[in-house]
Amino acid sequence: MQPRTSGRPASRSRLILATRNAGKITELRAILDAAELGVELVGADAYPDVPDVKETGVTFAENALLKAHALAQATGHPAVADDSGLCVDVLGGAPGIFSARWSGTHGDDQANLSLLLAQLADISDDHRAAHFACAAALALPDGTERVVEGRLKGTLRHTPSGTGGFGYDPVLQPLGESRTCAELTPAEKNAISHRGQAFRALVPVVRELMG
Ligand code: IMP
Repeated sequence: MQPRTSGRPASRSRLILATRNAGKITELRAILDAAELGVELVGADAYPDVPDVKETGVTFAENALLKAHALAQATGHPAVADDSGLCVDVLGGAPGIFSARWSGTHGDDQANLSLLLAQLADISDDHRAAHFACAAALALPDGTERVVEGRLKGTLRHTPSGTGGFGYDPVLQPLGESRTCAELTPAEKNAISHRGQAFRALVPVVRELMG
């Protein structure tokens, strides 16, 4: 029998990213495409009937796993989810998983940042170490799971600087940098960020579980 030569590419396996943030989808897609894994990455928007999951975990990894498993179960496709935040040494790792709602209102970046700076007002430069942390989880519909993590270490400024980025970017100055994350270009930030590191660490995991 002759092999089929329709000229169409073999269908690529689908991977869902548990986010509605177009920037995150673009970032992970670029990393997966560069690794030539033959995976089609789509955002959770492709499945509008799937409800968002409550982040009831107490670590970044737990929350990422909750979201990845829920999406994999609901769609029948492998799913990736990430969870991240800012961890301040002198605050014992807080805001941590509460980063998005530190001031009490979810997603109010300005209020979260102002509260954090007020809490640290009397803390001197040599005690202002902090890092952004990100856990990225991959879950298969059969329950298989993997988690990888990334960190961006730095120190916290006393006042915000820069207009790029989001969240706590205007106060975190990465180690070895003279600028804050909000003063880096998106490409510069992606190259060193906690999320960029975690997403790049997913490449061998995707190859292992979906190759
Ligand atoms: P998410 O898990 O990516 O939604 O991040 C949760 C929260 O952590 C955000 O609302 C921000 O407050 C903070 N955060 C996470 N990543 C970053 C970052 O790269 N820059 C600044 N803030 C961040």
